[in-house]
Amino acid sequence: MTEASRGTGVTVKAVPSGYPMGSEKQLIQQLTGIEIPAHSRAADSGILVHNVATAYAVAMAIYQDQPLISRIVTLSGGAVTHPGNWEVPLGTLASEFLNRASGFDTKPARLLMGGPMMGIELLDLHVPIIKGSSGILALTEQEISHKQSSPCVRCSRCVRACPMG
Ligand code: SF4
Repeated sequence: MTEASRGTGVTVKAVPSGYPMGSEKQLIQQLTGIEIPAHSRAADSGILVHNVATAYAVAMAIYQDQPLISRIVTLSGGAVTHPGNWEVPLGTLASEFLNRASGFDTKPARLLMGGPMMGIELLDLHVPIIKGSSGILALTEQEISHKQSSPCVRCSRCVRACPMG
């Protein structure tokens, strides 16, 4: 229990830092010990998972009659001048958002909408922030891997590392 959750009926639990800790099934297992069976949904086990932004948006809709008009966007990467979390109105151009957030220290070698593993490469900043825009990642040349992928040799080492087993 943390100070912020006292008296709310909410329990805050810290989870270890590891990939993919935001993944629903891994998070449920970490927090409850329950393993959601393959080909089954968490709801089938009586569990619903919402991220903080969704829970907040639901609360705003119910208590304030406010539809989703903005979202928190994480700005990060070595090329960014002021990394952080920003509340950005939906529809704002990424270029405008970057200008307001003081832009880049150095020219980014790669721009991603989203995180380093699942993000989509941005070739142009003239795209709007939408409800699925979790973040903008501006990587420097030193932060990019230039390793070439090679064919699978079926060694199965990835199976041992796979969070789904
Ligand atoms: S780790 Fe997995 S993907 Fe990579 S070579 Fe081995 S079996 Fe193939």
